[in-house]
Amino acid sequence: MNIGLIGHPLGHSYSKIMQEQWVDCEYHLWDIAPEDVGEFMTKKQFDGINVTIPHKMAVIPYLDDIDETALKVGAVNTIVHRNNRLIGYNTDVFGLTWLLQENNISITNKKVAILGNGGATKAALVVASNLGCKQCLIVSRKKGDGVITMDELMQEHNDVEVFIQATPVGMMPHEDQQLFSLASFHKAEAFVDLIYNPYRTTMVIEALDLGLKAIGGLQMLVAQGQEAIKRFHNITLSDDEIRSMVSALRCEKQNVVLIGMPGCGKSTVGKMFAEYCQREWVDCDQLIEQRCKKSIAEIFKDEGEEAFRNIESEVITMLSKRQGIVISCGGGVIKRHENTVRLRRNGFIVYLKRDLNELEVGVSRPLSQHKGVLEEMYKQRHPLYEKMMDVCIENNQCLQTVVENIEREWKKR
Ligand code: NAP
Repeated sequence: MNIGLIGHPLGHSYSKIMQEQWVDCEYHLWDIAPEDVGEFMTKKQFDGINVTIPHKMAVIPYLDDIDETALKVGAVNTIVHRNNRLIGYNTDVFGLTWLLQENNISITNKKVAILGNGGATKAALVVASNLGCKQCLIVSRKKGDGVITMDELMQEHNDVEVFIQATPVGMMPHEDQQLFSLASFHKAEAFVDLIYNPYRTTMVIEALDLGLKAIGGLQMLVAQGQEAIKRFHNITLSDDEIRSMVSALRCEKQNVVLIGMPGCGKSTVGKMFAEYCQREWVDCDQLIEQRCKKSIAEIFKDEGEEAFRNIESEVITMLSKRQGIVISCGGGVIKRHENTVRLRRNGFIVYLKRDLNELEVGVSRPLSQHKGVLEEMYKQRHPLYEKMMDVCIENNQCLQTVVENIEREWKKR
């Protein structure tokens, strides 16, 4: 079968990984410029296509039939070619509905704000209508009929209960960007970001820190992908199969990040875990020493802690853009909030915990040369490690068990 994705420009595609893992059939990537869409569609040299930005509306005039949901949305992201007829579907509605249900996020009778006014917003609007939300605001940079601005949202609607973020703001490689802060929305319960790269956007992290239910778009991507598979190959996948694909894709891309007190074993465990998973291992402190051509103790002595933290933040910024590696951090990485946000975006954060009297001390550790200092440090840092972590793993047992525990927790999320 001749199946694939059209869009422009086409970067690295999660859909290709997904579709080829599910079905034994090559999935092509066709980068089609807007001026070539007409020719591609009239030649019909495919059995099925997924359609992404910017062609979701441009393909509609070439269809012989359009499914009811796609008609309501006004955008098509899946086309099946059968008996010389092209039939258009929209699987984003299914994908977003699946994500909301999977995370127990109810929008029924809720005040919802959809951020953005593009193709994904159209699908989100159909979901909001299907699930009976109380009020649905569309929020955009441009005011329009039924569309409010970000300023109006902030000033007049601080009682929004559920947010659906459907702009590219916060997507790689501009992952530091954020539309606004959620802190003033006192009734907010849930925040859904349709972006799936990074796994958690800055806004998802802020929402989690505020105690909201918050999730990125990977589950939607996978769920809508399985709906497309159903159309192409007539195969229906179970919820558990969708869940295991989400987990497999997340683990493939996510970094595993070890944090914890100085001397708790982050380097030893990180190196061993990386070998176990056949991944690259990076030790932040080693990287800093290589950059500065001196030891951590010498950097502290010659330049002071502030200078060390600046270099550490630069290294964290660089590493947080990587995918699929194991990172052992310095114990003080949590001292700067921006480090924690960057690492959490695409990292599974493991707080490695070891009994205080088992922690290594010594002259090579500038901030933890004595046990007394360590106890005070633990009091200050423990809450910050807990706030940043996805999981806490005890490192008071055999190393192989520690490594296996990390892997089990990472894969089951
Ligand atoms: P789109 O049609 O291009 O619409 C993007 C919207 O974002 C437009 O309303 C645009 O506003 C707004 N926008 C762009 N830059 C902005 C900025 N700097 N500040 C404020 N608003 C900005 O894209 P789309 O298809 O709707 O997709 C939107 C996002 O959802 C993308 O990140 C996409 O990857 C994601 N998505 C995910 C899934 C999934 O399965 N997880 C599915 C579909 C889409 P203007 O109108 O003012 O230009």
